[in-house]
Amino acid sequence: MIHVNKLNKYFYVPHEIHALRDVTTHIHEGEVVVVIGPSGSGKSTFLRCLNRLEYPQSGSIVIDGVDILAKGCNINEVRAEVGMVFQSFNLFPHKNVLDNLTMAQITVRKRSRKQAEEKAMELLGKVGIAEKYNVKPEQLSGGQQQRVAIARSLCMDPKVMLFDEPTSALDPEMVGEVLDVMKALAKSGMTMVVVTHEMGFAREVADRVIFMDQGQILEEGTPEHFFAAPENERTKDFLRQIL
Ligand code: ADP
Ligand code: MG
Repeated sequence: MIHVNKLNKYFYVPHEIHALRDVTTHIHEGEVVVVIGPSGSGKSTFLRCLNRLEYPQSGSIVIDGVDILAKGCNINEVRAEVGMVFQSFNLFPHKNVLDNLTMAQITVRKRSRKQAEEKAMELLGKVGIAEKYNVKPEQLSGGQQQRVAIARSLCMDPKVMLFDEPTSALDPEMVGEVLDVMKALAKSGMTMVVVTHEMGFAREVADRVIFMDQGQILEEGTPEHFFAAPENERTKDFLRQIL
């Protein structure tokens, strides 16, 4: 589903950083990949390249047969096919929940308002929050806002879902409800790439764990391999710190 080959990303301001170094990985349809690694290791940059929020200097990314770095590639379509959920929920604050879920369906997917609203209500039901369709995001808890953000991405019928520390900004009592939605999504067969510090989620849900450090993939394997017998010294150090 996702082929990433020798991806390199540099930032030049405020000073030169080689944020991704020859990152190569292949992700199957339906696979759930959890990306872990220290702060600044390039995890967010990697995800952001996968839906063209960042544009790498070299390398290739092919998603479901589409070269998303090609000059003629429609960026809005890429972002519809590759949904992304951020740490900060990024809902439109002046729009109610239903409008948040219908706008891109109407403009990008060219659906009628009625179709878009039906889809929105279906997805709001799936994330357990249908009764809140008419409120503004600020009237919701962080966990509810994040579930709305997930539903909004899913309304586009994406082929892939990216999650960048989706529970890091939440109060602890709300982490579970968001992880539960993500687990259900994984079970439904969605292809997912998830940056998270929730090692319980990684153990339980991931098909594969990728460890990044200093812009490189240093180690990857099943959760069993990762948590029982990591090979790289830096992986071991990192796991010692967080477990
Ligand atoms: P992580 O998500 O693993 O914490 P990031 O991908 O955010 O790491 O960052 C990787 C490196 O790239 C860091 O050194 C960070 O400071 C740098 N970086 C990320 N985004 C930018 C940007 N927009 N401009 C300059 N440097 C950036
Ligand atoms: Mg990050």
